Amino acid sequence: MHFPRPAFFRAAALAVAAHCLCAVPADAGAPMTPPTIFETPKPAASTAAPKTPPQTSAKKTDAKPAVAAPAAKPATSAPVNLDTTLKSWGFTRVASAKKDTASWRNRSAVFEAVRDKSYLNIVGVRISLSAPVSERNGVWTIPRSDYDASLLPILSPTASTSTLPRRVRHVLLDPGHGGKEPGTQNDTLKLVEKNLTLDVAKRVKAILEKQYGIRVTLTRTNDTGLALADRSALTKKWNTDVFVSIHFNALQSAPTAAGIETYILTPRGQTSTNNSGTRVAKTSELTARELGHSSNTWNVLLGYHLQNSLVQKLKANDRGLRRARFGVLKGTTCPSVLVECGYLSNANEAQKISSPAHRQKIAEAITEGIVAYNTVMEKLSAASKKTTTRTAAK
Ligand SMILES: [Zn+2]
Repeated sequence: MHFPRPAFFRAAALAVAAHCLCAVPADAGAPMTPPTIFETPKPAASTAAPKTPPQTSAKKTDAKPAVAAPAAKPATSAPVNLDTTLKSWGFTRVASAKKDTASWRNRSAVFEAVRDKSYLNIVGVRISLSAPVSERNGVWTIPRSDYDASLLPILSPTASTSTLPRRVRHVLLDPGHGGKEPGTQNDTLKLVEKNLTLDVAKRVKAILEKQYGIRVTLTRTNDTGLALADRSALTKKWNTDVFVSIHFNALQSAPTAAGIETYILTPRGQTSTNNSGTRVAKTSELTARELGHSSNTWNVLLGYHLQNSLVQKLKANDRGLRRARFGVLKGTTCPSVLVECGYLSNANEAQKISSPAHRQKIAEAITEGIVAYNTVMEKLSAASKKTTTRTAAK
């Protein structure tokens, strides 16, 4: 079904997607593992307030804080100058073949910004921003709020928050829809989203449990319906470490649309992203309970790894890490994401999805994304313990 379109959208300008979360409010809003862009934690990392970031080195050596970073301390609300900020993280500006694109690189990671586009490409993953990248007289900037909410969690999660989540021991998978809610469908191929999501979830469970020894629980194990709030509430009931809601997408108005999207709950102060990658609701229009999520940093990191893994493994179109205040993501108590594993409205993609072998690949990609996130978490946790021990020994 189509969501009602926010009033400020011009109808002609946007082909609003028939996102599959039918029961959700209309807010809808180089195969690479990139752990080297993450620093190890500092003992007393403070909040997401603008601060001088530590040097990003490709080494996992030490929690040595940062060498003084140059000019990365603008006023709180000032836009972030990408050149000076990325330089302070050890990135160097490199020539770009396109005039409207700027690129920065360190030993293992590449950042790319395109003038007037509301995203950054970070190590091959598109990260949605709440406002476009600006370029004036050769100075490239993004909003401070985007830096804090979307970029810093990837560059250095522990500079964003001082709270480390638990390592992944128990995963809650949520096969989207079920019962009277079929989700999206492809009538030609007789594909129904609720069956596909359950199939993929069972495959992920099998791999995570057998190959990684990670416990997995499903929100539903058969064709039954479940309210969105009941799904997210299970994270608290079962004290799970990670929540992944699995879906397939459709955009009947644009049958060529294809690829992967990963959603996290829109963080405080940020705007949501719709399927056209455009900002939707303003924070001021939302109620208090919809604002933010205590796990934002870790949502970003988990979402980043899932999007990266799915796009690389499936060689799929990267439609980006996005933000939305989806009902199923609102009440969770652990890092949470919603993955859209392809478009049933696209003939080619639907054909692939109809194959069990392809769904197995999707399941492997989801598994590998969770495992990559956990690997970072283990490194951060180990480094944190090391730092604590060192501090205690003083
Ligand atoms: Zn769905």
